Amino acid sequence: MSAKILDGKAVSARLKDELKEEVATLKQQGIQPGLAVIIVGDDPASRIYVNNKKKACEYIGIHSEEYALPAETTQEELLALVDKLNHKADIHGILCQLPLPKHLDEEAVIAAISPKKDVDAFHPVNVGKIMIGNFDFLPCTPAGVMELIAEAGIEIAGKECVVVGRSNIVGKPQAMLLLHQHGTVTICHSRTKNLAEVCRRADILVAAVGVPELIKGDMIKPGAVVIDVGMNRLPDKKLVGDVDFEAAKEVAGAITPVPGGVGPMTIATLMKNTVRAATIAQ
Ligand code: NDP
Repeated sequence: MSAKILDGKAVSARLKDELKEEVATLKQQGIQPGLAVIIVGDDPASRIYVNNKKKACEYIGIHSEEYALPAETTQEELLALVDKLNHKADIHGILCQLPLPKHLDEEAVIAAISPKKDVDAFHPVNVGKIMIGNFDFLPCTPAGVMELIAEAGIEIAGKECVVVGRSNIVGKPQAMLLLHQHGTVTICHSRTKNLAEVCRRADILVAAVGVPELIKGDMIKPGAVVIDVGMNRLPDKKLVGDVDFEAAKEVAGAITPVPGGVGPMTIATLMKNTVRAATIAQ
């Protein structure tokens, strides 16, 4: 039997419609949420992500400003821009599209963004708040995953959850959010022994690795919920996830497609965070 498809495109469309209404109400109160997006260099994937974020802002009615800087931008120039945006009253959210060119210090740039405008929730203050469970913003991709799981009516409490990947932007916060919802969480990474065996224990399996189709059908417990965060561009330009979708959908109970699964949820959560930032700034 084929798995239920968790349609991130549909859920995110609904979320964006709700936000559009919320923004219309805020505008009547004289509040217009504003997002600044910084992009450094000309990475084609980053350009697509930034364009999608701008399109979502336009749809919802969020004011957006793009700061496209050349690849040779210095650390000082970038920090000066962040400082300017931190003080700009019509900007409530600041997003610096990652990865930055190698000569720039990502950690320092993230730390320079005001935690109140940190709509990616990457600033150490926000990361700490998430750890404690008392937060203003949640990181967009893991929060989007949680929303998708909740929308499908999937219970997390008491379930075996396995997260493959331990990056600061996806794997680690994803594990923390599942833990907040009372999952029993295991985190896997490149040094994990017997990855297949650990994955097969999962009632909820989240793959955030960046290796095309690493998770095979025989690594999935029958009936499991499989969330594929991966977005990998093959040499023939085809976009695939970290899960072998065709094989996995025959074993899983529910699964996210790539594209159309987690990706749209990430953008919807960014929009939600921006509206929230504007609300709490008042
Ligand atoms: P990173 O490269 O930062 O992290 C990858 C993680 O996977 C690391 O923890 C690494 O382990 C682990 N890993 C690598 N190879 C293996 C392996 N063979 N077995 C087990 N673990 C392994 O990636 P990100 O977290 O930034 O992104 C992961 C994927 O998600 C990418 O495809 C990215 O494009 C996608 N992504 C999608 C988003 C969306 O909106 N849908 C948003 C963000 C990312 P170690 O720590 O030991 O090196």
